[in-house]
Amino acid sequence: MDLLLIGPPGVGKGTQAARLRQALNIPHLSTGDLLRRHVAERTRLGVAAAAHMRRGELVPDELVTAMALDQIHGPSCAGGVVLDGFPRTLTQAEALDTALAGQGRRLAAVLHLTAPDQVLLRRLTGRRTCGGCGAIYHPVTRPPRAPGLCDSCGHGLVQRADDTAETARTRLAVHTRQTQPLLTRYRLTGVLHEIDGCGGVDDVTGNLLAILAPHAVGSSAA
Ligand SMILES: [Zn+2]
Repeated sequence: MDLLLIGPPGVGKGTQAARLRQALNIPHLSTGDLLRRHVAERTRLGVAAAAHMRRGELVPDELVTAMALDQIHGPSCAGGVVLDGFPRTLTQAEALDTALAGQGRRLAAVLHLTAPDQVLLRRLTGRRTCGGCGAIYHPVTRPPRAPGLCDSCGHGLVQRADDTAETARTRLAVHTRQTQPLLTRYRLTGVLHEIDGCGGVDDVTGNLLAILAPHAVGSSAA
């Protein structure tokens, strides 16, 4: 089963992606992880991407598409994949459809995790990151045992520049602007599902799996 997970920063997309991977036994393909791996392993695509990143530019559509499709066509994703961060543009969405169709596959569902901006802002701006090991804490959802100190390594916790109110608002606005065309496209093709991301982590996972249950039956019967 091929799935796409879309959601704004702070909605808990990474957590849900990990849970879907486990529940459905299909890999989670995060574009961020994929890009970092290509750069670290100095693959042909990674070297080309790193040149853009060094200049502070976005990595071009076609490089990201090549990395993602290469992975999707590989043996690890033959039984399906949870996509996260790809496609991000309509051009990438078209390339994905074509690539999947070439293998007799199609996106079974696009899962859009949503939450009101005020909830997301509260989650994003409350975040504190360990200066030593990078662990992430939150006063409500994951408080450290000792205030201001990391549970695992004892380093002080800091607020990353990414997590200030102004940056968080900008990130949410950018996300909304970027995903609108994709959501419209997938709404028209009938694969889009909107899921409330405000509830408890288990409840959200339960709702996601309930949406996917009919698709799992359909694919095994086909
Ligand atoms: Zn730490």
